[in-house]
Amino acid sequence: MRIVVVGAGILGASTAYHLARDGADVAIVDQAHEGQATAAGAGIICPWASSVDDPAFYELYAAGARYYTDLVPALSELGENDLGFRRVGALLVSTDPSELAPAESMLRRRRTEAPEIGDVGRLTPHEAKASFPPLHAGLAGLHVSGAARVDGRLLTASLLRAAEHHGATVARGLVELISPCGDRVLGVSLDDRSIMADAVVVTAGAWVPALLRPLGINLPIQPQRGQVVHLRLPGQDTNAWPVVLPPGSHYLLAFDGSRIVAGATRELGTGFDYRVTAGGQAEVLSEALRIAPGLGAATLVETRVGFRPVSSDGRPLLGRVRDVKGLVIGNGLGAAGLTIGPLAGRLLADVILDRPPALDLAAFDPLRRRDPERMPQLPLR
Ligand code: FAD
Repeated sequence: MRIVVVGAGILGASTAYHLARDGADVAIVDQAHEGQATAAGAGIICPWASSVDDPAFYELYAAGARYYTDLVPALSELGENDLGFRRVGALLVSTDPSELAPAESMLRRRRTEAPEIGDVGRLTPHEAKASFPPLHAGLAGLHVSGAARVDGRLLTASLLRAAEHHGATVARGLVELISPCGDRVLGVSLDDRSIMADAVVVTAGAWVPALLRPLGINLPIQPQRGQVVHLRLPGQDTNAWPVVLPPGSHYLLAFDGSRIVAGATRELGTGFDYRVTAGGQAEVLSEALRIAPGLGAATLVETRVGFRPVSSDGRPLLGRVRDVKGLVIGNGLGAAGLTIGPLAGRLLADVILDRPPALDLAAFDPLRRRDPERMPQLPLR
């Protein structure tokens, strides 16, 4: 079975890997647009602390985090160990310890179905600061031991190499779909060549509307710009520092090499304006310094900009397009794609290979009717 995957962010890379691993003949093509969401993604894996209250979305989000326990060893068997993945735990912080109570009871409730949440326990301000030294001295903490972080760039590169190991080919180029009558996709064209296929999986992130418009499909996806700042704290061993989640949508996390990531803006209406703005940078830095004044001495290394693909109702779009034979869509992972993307790629592979997916995808039908009463349920992180 010949499959073309369009877009090699986390979702396309995972889809290609799972398809190739399971015997399909896969070509993956990517244009490497500036602002690929995966390349800018912070890397927090902690769905259980999210305020999202859409049960279908939460089930997928939590299953995405769980899937890392299968994926990481599977990639390791192929010698792919450099993913920036580590179960460092998360620290919800607040100046007022009573503010942490609702999150604590939600985490304990969710833990009955998701034991991978691990231990949930209070930390004194002193203990919180000891685990993340730049933190403000007056913050109480709620520690969640199962949370992790991952480097989206490294993971995606590993998935692409693993796909190639299983026979996939990876190419660069801007793809158009070949669909003479709009009721069937026969393959893709790029530059001066065509690749014919039994199915085309479109995992093109925020750029997807332009690709599908010629087929008369108006996919309700728009880019949400995120600016995220990378800092370095010379001489600090940051490798095991937890993810820090204050109230609201900002956060801090750490990787090895003394690197701290402070995120992030959430800007709608910017289109694909790929710029670091003064306002965006100021917002992220002031929020970071407010909870972690010890970062004031850090080196500002870079600010990354990415376009999160967000759907009109906040739910991902995953599955076949019923009226267009050979067309499968994966999109709308919004602010949660580094958590959901690896599993979603596995689920899309199941759909294409006509296997029942491990999770019911009915709620994620790409062309589902939107409930006009349902407001977008975008998880804050
Ligand atoms: P993308 O990564 O955007 O990839 C789409 C690819 O398709 C691009 O490479 C593009 O060039 C290609 N493409 C598009 N059109 C074409 C075409 N016609 N031909 C060829 N190629 C094409 N998620 C978490 O779980 N945890 C986090 O902490 C987190 N933090 C984030 C912080 C920021 C600042 C941002 C921006 C995102 C964050 N996310 C996080 C969300 C996550 O990064 C995204 O949901 C995810 O990366 C989306 O992946 P994707 O593969 O769908 O899209």
